[in-house]
Amino acid sequence: MSDYDYDLFTIGAGSGGVRASRIAASHGARVAVAEEYRVGGTCVIRGCVPKKMLVYGAQFAEDLEHAKRFGWEIGEARFDWATLRDNVLADVDRLNGLYTQGLDSAKVEVIPQRATLSGPHEVTLANGEKKTARHILIATGGRPFVPSFEGSEHGITSNEAFHLEELPARVLIAGAGYIANEFAGVFHALGSKVTIVNRSDQILRGYDESVRERLVQISQAKGIEFRFQASFEKIVKNADGSLTVSMTNHDPIEVDCVLFATGRVPNVEGLGLEAVGVVTNERGAIAVDAYARTNVEGIYAVGDVTDRVQLTPVAIREGHAFADTVFGNNPRTIDYDAIPTAVFSHPPIGAVGLTEAEARAKFGTCTVYTSEFRPMKNALTQSSERALYKMVCHAETGVVLGLHMIGPDSAEIMQAAAIAVKAGLTKADFDATVALHPTLAEELVLLK
Ligand code: FAD
Ligand code: NDP
Repeated sequence: MSDYDYDLFTIGAGSGGVRASRIAASHGARVAVAEEYRVGGTCVIRGCVPKKMLVYGAQFAEDLEHAKRFGWEIGEARFDWATLRDNVLADVDRLNGLYTQGLDSAKVEVIPQRATLSGPHEVTLANGEKKTARHILIATGGRPFVPSFEGSEHGITSNEAFHLEELPARVLIAGAGYIANEFAGVFHALGSKVTIVNRSDQILRGYDESVRERLVQISQAKGIEFRFQASFEKIVKNADGSLTVSMTNHDPIEVDCVLFATGRVPNVEGLGLEAVGVVTNERGAIAVDAYARTNVEGIYAVGDVTDRVQLTPVAIREGHAFADTVFGNNPRTIDYDAIPTAVFSHPPIGAVGLTEAEARAKFGTCTVYTSEFRPMKNALTQSSERALYKMVCHAETGVVLGLHMIGPDSAEIMQAAAIAVKAGLTKADFDATVALHPTLAEELVLLK
């Protein structure tokens, strides 16, 4: 008989926690997972999945307009937010059920409660019960960060955006990262007046300058406004429910909704880390080594709570590698190099590897190939929107160091192209591949 109730107790049934629990159970471990909100976590319940559904929904606005140029007669198109919202939330319910079933079939015990650490091998549940485990995995993810200033409580975050009673006529989005640009595209297409307000003078820190500039240009042309170098002063709620937002360097603005998309912070509050001595880093994230081990033996962490790369596929890989290492007799680490990313803006961005600036900083020099073109479909729709592809190569070897794209289907194209970049292929290898015509992606093998 084991001295512990479980071999593994996972705190948090999100992307990382679910994968780790299922794989550990498949290796024969007795596993329980505690979830304080809904099984599936951020990605499934209030992140990637419902967000992408809204992006699909928003795309119809342009498509319906463009359809006329392709001969379709469409009467007056009307959009009903409640229908989209409720259908998306119903699909989230379906997925929530599937994830729970998946854990059940893997023989993982799901405990629908908050859990906190109360000893190196012990957790305490919200109902006061204590459970022991040989290994504990912290997979509690992150939550939206809201800057603190007068009236900031009047704003919402992405968590609430999926449940809005009605679409705001005027929305201010604070921040200019992933969530800001994705929701800006959605709200704008669905009819809201959108203003993005950021503290710095740029959007999407970390992305290649050319695609960032292109997204600002396209967004502005659509009617999305940007205010840069703005620091929030206060939000005042008016008698009619509207909000007046004051900020430095710009006039006050009146809107109906403020959406904070100002980053996410690790979920570590009240988790009992101090009680057992688990160390966090300067960003408040749980510090782990390459094998997801914290400084306390038997306690591990994966996913957003470690604040390395806040992406679902990364959390899943980390959870899987942890389970294989600890329960599958297959110690392995994650390769964080050349992780493809996408911003599901309108149009989307796809990227992998080094930006031009990063390549120059690292190697002193690099060779850059770009293609700037009007997608064929836009000729008929008479849209002036132009796509941009950029390939950053090692100056001597021609190895592709980075690929950056903005334009229709960029995220889809990037997943395939990232395989070539990850494999270390060269510009000559790309060029050796015959173009597939007529596609947008063919530009990748025709870059000059
Ligand atoms: P989470 O999925 O956040 O899971 C943590 C779970 O732990 C949660 O269910 C939480 O309720 C639970 N929990 C926390 N504390 C406790 C406790 N003490 N006891 C019990 N349970 C607890 N990534 C992409 O790759 N692509 C995208 O398109 C994308 N879009 C996104 C859009 C939005 C709006 C947001 C917010 C995020 C998006 N992400 C996207 C990021 C992605 O959702 C996260 O990187 C991913 O969910 C992290 O997984 P995780 O397992 O670390 O944490
Ligand atoms: P991001 O880190 O992408 O962007 C945060 C934005 O908020 C930046 O513009 C930043 O400014 C600004 N900001 C940060 N701190 C403050 C502050 N204290 N006051 C005012 N402004 C501030 O975060 P998001 O919230 O958009 O998304 C969180 C994470 O979720 C992402 O990093 C990503 O990993 C993940 N995600 C992934 C998606 C995808 O894969 N498609 C989609 C959505 C989320 P600046 O940097 O200019 O200084």
